[in-house]
Amino acid sequence: MAERKDTHRRDTHIATAGRRKEWTGPVVNPPVWRASTHLYENTAALKAGTRTNEDGKFFYGRRGAPTQWALCEALTELEPEAFGTVLYPSGVAALSGALMSVLKPGDVLLVTDNAYEPTRLMATGLFKQLGIETRFFDPLDIPAYEALFCERTKAVMLESPGSLTMEVCDVPALAAIAGKHRAVSLIDNTYATSLGFPALKHGCDIAIMSLTKHVGGHSDLMMGSASAGERFYRKLRRTAQTLGHVVSPDDAALALRSLRTMALRLEKSTQTTLIVAEWLSNRTEVSHVLCPVLPDAPGYDLWQRDFSGGCGLFSFTLHDADESARARFIDALTLFGIGYSWGGYESLALPFDPAPIRTASQWPPTQWDDGNHLGIRLSIGLEDPQDLIDDLKQGFAAMEQK
Ligand SMILES: *Cc1c(COP(=O)(O)O)cnc(C)c1O
Repeated sequence: MAERKDTHRRDTHIATAGRRKEWTGPVVNPPVWRASTHLYENTAALKAGTRTNEDGKFFYGRRGAPTQWALCEALTELEPEAFGTVLYPSGVAALSGALMSVLKPGDVLLVTDNAYEPTRLMATGLFKQLGIETRFFDPLDIPAYEALFCERTKAVMLESPGSLTMEVCDVPALAAIAGKHRAVSLIDNTYATSLGFPALKHGCDIAIMSLTKHVGGHSDLMMGSASAGERFYRKLRRTAQTLGHVVSPDDAALALRSLRTMALRLEKSTQTTLIVAEWLSNRTEVSHVLCPVLPDAPGYDLWQRDFSGGCGLFSFTLHDADESARARFIDALTLFGIGYSWGGYESLALPFDPAPIRTASQWPPTQWDDGNHLGIRLSIGLEDPQDLIDDLKQGFAAMEQK
């Protein structure tokens, strides 16, 4: 669908993508087209309309209008090797919609053990009911992963860095193995986005994002996307139409507006993250900083090889704090809000305990000492790094006061 202007560089694409004159008219951004019914000139045009099912053609509200088309086209232009992008009402809807477009009863799905928790629950709940079998794998153990493939393995769900525990894995190698076994590789690329990790270029078949996070960027909308080359794009689109996935034009306009500043926001929050994460790694209360952009992090070699940018999301573990000490730390923070989601301009903190949601890998890792390593996840926003550090300092002080 997108006409890619290959002579331009990334930042120029971010400024121009999706802004077709026929969609924007004489203004800069496409207006919000609020529409369910699309009106036809006459009955002959109505009849002709049902015969084609093309992008960028008026038909009925469920197929979108210029506001949604412009966002799709912009996301496609920013994902190298993508032919098209489908929008979904949330990131979870994008995950389920994409998986349902490539799986049927009797198939086996492989899911990375550090996947976003609702991805796991979808696999072990709804998909199980539909007769799809899921096997979880440790993304850092490639031989064990390859040994899980069988005749019925039809799809692999990847995520890097992993949710909460932030392991960076060798996505090109994992995707190549999936391809060798004729399985479709899907990746939840919410963390890096196509700007930091061009997933299709690295061998994945379908790149999924929760647009709620970095693309939205202001904690005020929910949306998801899946981008792919032509073959898988057609499957994604057909399934999304069957399931009736739509997004509101108001949200599409907000997402498109925020997309223009996404690279700047990601760069700034990555810089702040480096400062805050480094500071945390020197605190005696902290046992491990799980932050892929830190040069001494495990997996940093893969990070450097494959990623061109990070974001403000990372985790750390407390050496020997109990749950109430961890709660005192988080409750004392004033700049960090307590809440789910991430990728907004404001910082957030969240306690996490991944052990009950890991089945193919060990948490805490076996090589760690016997501290209890309770986890805290931070999403770093656009605040001043020193103010965030001061806030964390007084969190540590509160932790010591029983
Ligand atoms: C938040 C999140 C999602 C889900 O996105 P929603 O828009 O909240 O449905 C999917 N994957 C990851 C990694 C996420 O963090």
